[in-house]
Amino acid sequence: MLKDNLFKKILDKQIPAKIAYEDDLCLAFHDINPQAPTHVLIIPRKVIPTHADLTDADRELLGHLHLVAVKLANQLKIDDGYRIVINCQDRGGQTVPHLHMHLLGGRDFHWPPG
Ligand code: AMP
Repeated sequence: MLKDNLFKKILDKQIPAKIAYEDDLCLAFHDINPQAPTHVLIIPRKVIPTHADLTDADRELLGHLHLVAVKLANQLKIDDGYRIVINCQDRGGQTVPHLHMHLLGGRDFHWPPG
């Protein structure tokens, strides 16, 4: 259920996280419950609750998040293949109401995802 934006608390350093990358537009940190040997969440500093809330104003930000994912995949040595996931709203499996990109690697992934 989408309620508490705990990622805002991570951005505000109110709760700790293992930071992998940060800049003026975004923050990346390791998922507390990893679904792969490498599992990082990339989040914008701007509060955007879900993917469905994106607007034209977020065009550059989205491109930036993807380029950060490429950089991190190289740094974390998962550039042999990885998966990017954005869960959207309750039916999409989203639990934290702050747009986030899952970057997963270090194992094989299959399709369909289930
Ligand atoms: P989603 O289900 O797409 O909203 O993803 C939320 C993700 O946040 C899950 O993979 C959780 O394991 C992860 N998560 C929840 N709390 C924390 C936390 N304090 N630090 C890092 N990751 C977290």
